[in-house]
Amino acid sequence: MPLTGGCGCGAVRFEISAPLAGSAYCHCTRCQRRTGTAKQASARIEPGSFTLLQGEEHLGVWAPAGGLEKVFCRECGSAVLARAPGDHEVVVVRLGAIDGDPGIRPQAHQFVAYAAPWEPIPDDGLPRFDERIPG
Ligand SMILES: [Zn+2]
Ligand SMILES: [Zn+2]
Repeated sequence: MPLTGGCGCGAVRFEISAPLAGSAYCHCTRCQRRTGTAKQASARIEPGSFTLLQGEEHLGVWAPAGGLEKVFCRECGSAVLARAPGDHEVVVVRLGAIDGDPGIRPQAHQFVAYAAPWEPIPDDGLPRFDERIPG
């Protein structure tokens, strides 16, 4: 601790001061589109543990109706985090944005009903949910 991370070009850097609270793969269509991949691995953070160190001016936001704001680097396109609309408390950080070992592993697959037809969901023993992970 703390965990550190950032975007691909280095313009955006952040720090997380508490262990990550949970992690999952998301197979939803929005995650497929915005990442160009079959799934996105993200982790929930403990409230208040996220600090943006640099790059506020480089952040772009996609705020689809009925969902979290998806925040990315406008310079390199890297997915960085998601936050609640309105209060902008960071709730989810993209696992791939973290430097080194995030200290947590994805624990479930969500929105598998929308999974990409071209990549089988791995037989990794993790629970699968057709929609959002309950609770
Ligand atoms: Zn960047
Ligand atoms: Zn998703």
